Amino acid sequence: MLESVLIANRGEIACRIIRTAKRLGMRTIAVYSEADKNALFVQMADEAHLIGPPPARESYLQIDKIIEVAKRTRAASIHPGYGFLSERVEFAQACAENGIVFVGPPASAIKAMGLKDAAKALVQQAHVPVVPGYHGAKQDPEFLRQKAYEVGYPVLIKAVAGGGGKGMRRVDKAADFDAALESAQREAQNAFGDPRVLVEKYILSPRHIEIQVFADKHGNVVHLFERDCSLQRRHQKVIEEAPAPGMTPDMRAIMGKAAVEAARAVGYVGAGTIEFIADGREGLRPDRFYFMEMNTRLQVEHPVTEAITGLDLVELQFRVASGEALPFSQDDLAINGHAVEARLYAEDPEKEFLPSTGKLWALEFPEGEGLRIDTGVEAGDEVTPYYDPMIAKVIAHGATRDEALSRLAEALGETIVAGPKTNIAFLKKLCEAKEFRAGQFDTGFIDRNMDSLGAVAHEIDAQAVRLGVLKLIEHEFEERGYKAAIYEGPVPSPWGDHDAFQLSGPRREGMTIKVDGERTDAGLEWSLSASDDVDVVVRFGGGVSHLLGDYLPADPRRFVLTDDGVIVLSDGRQTRVAPHDPFDVDLEHANGGGTIKAPMHGKLIALFVKPGDKVEKGQRLAIVEAMKMEHALTAPTDGEVAEIAAEPGAQVAEGARLIVLKTEA
Ligand code: ADP
Repeated sequence: MLESVLIANRGEIACRIIRTAKRLGMRTIAVYSEADKNALFVQMADEAHLIGPPPARESYLQIDKIIEVAKRTRAASIHPGYGFLSERVEFAQACAENGIVFVGPPASAIKAMGLKDAAKALVQQAHVPVVPGYHGAKQDPEFLRQKAYEVGYPVLIKAVAGGGGKGMRRVDKAADFDAALESAQREAQNAFGDPRVLVEKYILSPRHIEIQVFADKHGNVVHLFERDCSLQRRHQKVIEEAPAPGMTPDMRAIMGKAAVEAARAVGYVGAGTIEFIADGREGLRPDRFYFMEMNTRLQVEHPVTEAITGLDLVELQFRVASGEALPFSQDDLAINGHAVEARLYAEDPEKEFLPSTGKLWALEFPEGEGLRIDTGVEAGDEVTPYYDPMIAKVIAHGATRDEALSRLAEALGETIVAGPKTNIAFLKKLCEAKEFRAGQFDTGFIDRNMDSLGAVAHEIDAQAVRLGVLKLIEHEFEERGYKAAIYEGPVPSPWGDHDAFQLSGPRREGMTIKVDGERTDAGLEWSLSASDDVDVVVRFGGGVSHLLGDYLPADPRRFVLTDDGVIVLSDGRQTRVAPHDPFDVDLEHANGGGTIKAPMHGKLIALFVKPGDKVEKGQRLAIVEAMKMEHALTAPTDGEVAEIAAEPGAQVAEGARLIVLKTEA
C-alpha cells in the first residue's frame, strides 16, 4: 500500500478520504487555506499545511504550492477528491513529473474526456450511444441553427468545456435559437474561456442515470451498477439513489457494458462515472439512453454505490493507484438493497435557494442502522462564502427503496441545524413526495413542484416567534435566579387562574423584537406570582404562549441560543428571534430612501445605474454573483440614485452598502 497521501481538497470529502487512508495505515497530509485553519479535516489529518488565503484560486487551485508541500512532506500520493484540481490535466501531469502517485486516471484520459464534443466523438467510435446532435468544430450561428433544425426542436445548446450546468440553454423553437446561442457562448467564454458549443436533441422526460466504473492498471474494467440522479435543480443534483427505479437487469447489463466500453476507449484507470441521459417517456428502455459525459474522478454521490455494494471506493482507488489488480470481477458483484443520498446545503429555499453563510450555532445528526453522515463541519464552525456551501450528505440504506427513503426522511427530520438557512425541510418533503415515491419523476420534477415542496416564501412562523421570545425571557429570568420554564400548547385560561396569588396585577411591558433581522412589535406581559414563579404571556400574530402552566414542556432541542438571541427550529425551518436594540437606528432609511445592500458575499458583476438616474420600484439595478449563481438586486422603492458605493468587478461582503436611493418624500 502507498505509505502516505496528501489530500488536495477540503471539507467532507477530505474527511472521508482521510478516514479510509488511516484505516489502511497511511500517513495523511492535509493542505488548507486560511479560512479552514480550524476545520475538521485539518484536525483529522496527521499533519496539515497552510497553502494560502481563502479564495480557492489562491489556495486549493494552486498546483505549484500543493506539489511543493507534497515534495517537502514526501507524500507518496495525492488524492484530489472532487471539484478543485480533480479534473485538471496539468495537475495529474505535475504529479507524474514529480514522482507522486496521482490517485486518479492518467492525464491522457482526463484530457480525452475533458471536452464534451471530443468525448462524444470518441465514445461514439466505441459504439456507445450518444445524444443525436452536432458536436463538430463549426461554430457559425447560421450553420448551428441549421443543425438545430435537422436535429429537431427542442434542442439543448451546451458549452463543450461545460460543467455545473454553465453555458447550457434549452431552445424550444427556431425563433429563439440565435439569442440562446449568443448567451450560451457568452456564459461559456466567461466561465471556461472557451465559447464553443455543441447542439443536441433535448431528451424529453429525461432521467439522469450514471454508471460507476472502476479500472485497474492490468486491463480489468468493471462497473458498479447505476445511480439515478434525476432530482436536480438548475442541472445540479439534489438527491441521488442506487439502483435506479424502473431499471431492468437487461438494461443495466447493456448500460454497464456501454460504460465499460467508454472507459476502455480512453485507457481509463481508477474510479470514474459515465453519465447518461435516458428518455423516460415510456419508462426506461434499453434503446433510449445516451452518453452525456464522463467524470474522471470520485463523485459526490459515491456513498450510495458503496452502500449497495459494500465496497469502499476510496480504498479501491488507493489499491488501484498502488498497482494492485481489482480484487473482483464483474460476476462477483451484486446489488444489496437500496440507498439514497440527500445533499444538505446552506441555502434558503424560500429565497430562490440563495446561498446562506454564517456560524453553525447547532449541528446534530441522528445515528442509526442504515444511516451514514458525511460532513466536514461541526457545531461552532462557520459556513464561509468561499466554497461550496454543502453542510453534509445524509445517506440512508434499506432493504427496499421505500425503507431507504423513509429512513432518510426520518433522519432529516431529526437533524438539528441552526445558523445558516438550509434546505433540510425541502429535502424531507422531496423524500416524502408521492410521485417520487412511486418512481414517477424526471429531471424536471423539482421545478414542477416548487410550491408543494415548500420552496416559496413563507409567512413568519408566529408560534415560533412567541416561543422564541419566551426563550429569551426564560434565559433572562434564569440569570436573575427565577424559576422558569417554557411551556407550549393550548392555553385554557391565560390569566384568571392566578389572580388570587398575585402580589399585584399583571404589569404590561412592551418589547420590540427582531424576527429574522427585521423589526416587529411582539407584545409582552408579565407578572410575578406568590410562589415565586413567573408567568409571562407573549402575544404575537394573534396567539398566546405561556412561560408557566400545566402544559407540555417544549422540546429544548428546538431552541438554540446565539450571540444576540435565539433560533427556534420547527419542521426544519428556522426563526431567529432577538431583542431589538432601540439605539440601533437605521439612518439609511431615515429619510425614506433605500439602501441596497449585498445579500451575501460575492462579486458585483454588473451595475445598470449611475448617480442621478431615476429608477422605479422593482427595476433591476445590479447583479451580484455568489457561489456560481447570479442574483439580481432590484429597487425597493421608486427614487433617484444618490450614491454608488462599489464598482463592477469588486468583491463585496454580505451586508455591504452598494447603492443608495433618494426618494421624493
Ligand atoms: P454539466 O457538465 O454542465 O453538468 P451535463 O452534460 O452533465 O452538464 O448535463 C447536466 C444535466 O443537464 C443533466 O444531468 C441533465 O439533467 C441535463 N441534460 C443534459 N443533456 C441533456 C439532454 N440532451 N436532454 C435533456 N436534458 C439534458
